[in-house]
Amino acid sequence: MYFSEFGFDDDLMDGIDAMGYETATPVQEQVIPHIISGKDIIAAAQTGTGKTAAFLLPVLHRLLSEPHDDKSVNALIIVPTRELAIQIAQTLEGITYYTSVSFVSVYGGTGGASFASERKALETGVDIAICTPGRMISHLNMGYVKLDGLKYLILDEADRMLDMGFFDDIVKIISYLPKERQNLLFSATMPPAIRKLAAGILHKPEEINIAISKPPEQIAQGAYWVYEPQKIPLVKHVLQQKEFGSVLIFCSSKLSVRKLYDELRRSKFPVGNIQSDLEQAQREQVLIDFKSGKTKILVATDILSRGIDIEDIDLVINYDVPHDGEDYVHRIGRTARAATKGTAITFVTEKEQFKFHKIEELIGKEVTRHTVPEQFGATPAIDPKKDSRPKKRKNFKKKSGPKR
Ligand code: AMP
Repeated sequence: MYFSEFGFDDDLMDGIDAMGYETATPVQEQVIPHIISGKDIIAAAQTGTGKTAAFLLPVLHRLLSEPHDDKSVNALIIVPTRELAIQIAQTLEGITYYTSVSFVSVYGGTGGASFASERKALETGVDIAICTPGRMISHLNMGYVKLDGLKYLILDEADRMLDMGFFDDIVKIISYLPKERQNLLFSATMPPAIRKLAAGILHKPEEINIAISKPPEQIAQGAYWVYEPQKIPLVKHVLQQKEFGSVLIFCSSKLSVRKLYDELRRSKFPVGNIQSDLEQAQREQVLIDFKSGKTKILVATDILSRGIDIEDIDLVINYDVPHDGEDYVHRIGRTARAATKGTAITFVTEKEQFKFHKIEELIGKEVTRHTVPEQFGATPAIDPKKDSRPKKRKNFKKKSGPKR
């Protein structure tokens, strides 16, 4: 479906053309008409599906074509991370270039001047505010945020927000909003906690499911069964085997990120790292360096993985097995964009092999087992179906679980 078929405002169409969008992605095709007709939405869609434009375009169209209160915030987009807020603001900047729409990003980690300019926009009225929960609450607590005319609430990456413990903050922010409004919830996964949140917020929502449950065929997926101390030398080995354009390495903790980053740097690899200890400005610089090709390798914690929209990755290494299958698909989907061939490698320890087996079940295929070169010594036996998670946890669950 071509964007010209949605009947968007002319100035908005100019922005869409300037962004180079021609045809709508599946999520856009399904979501846009419902938003224009005023429906609430719950959509399972991940980064990379075009979900951002799926909610921005119809909301912008309505802001441009319907009367609205210019002394109030009109649309509020709540996101889990600063990176995602910045990314949405960048997309907005492009699509609204030919319009008079105003927007502000509201996130922590910036200085007093930013806080003051956020305050000004929230106090005097702005079409769209993109915020992280904590920072928005800081403003709300001061009592000056004008929300009387708010018409649209968007929760983006809602599952990630709940993972990060923002449930209460979201509920609190919503308590400040007018009851009459349109609600749009986007989430990569739909665990029960999301259903619970949705039940409390959405009104007769349209359900849209665009979750990618299988990675594209052209990604060469492989796994190494390893012991923890073998991981760093093996990363170096993999990186030396072939000339990769850009490489993204995901670790499950910031400690692993730092350790791996330090080791790679010491070995003179062009590497950057991104984790929550970095200041906002440092994180932005790391992303700029990576996107421009100055650093070819980026080591990141998984919490930040969804907020980073970087395309054209040649190799993704899962230094640890991702938490769930959706995360796995999401991460490796960063390679092989636009029909190019990508490579994804996962390190699996004995403890993680059951989790990896579950991922293989979800994607419906066995990932190629690579042999660890001999010089690395003995490796764990491959027995993916063996559930070697500590027994204690199971007992604990049984005892403390609800009585049925
Ligand atoms: P998202 O899933 O929102 O993170 O979007 C992923 C990428 O796709 C972003 O770089 C967007 O600019 C781009 N994109 C979104 N919609 C379209 C479209 N209809 N055609 C081409 N690119 C798009």
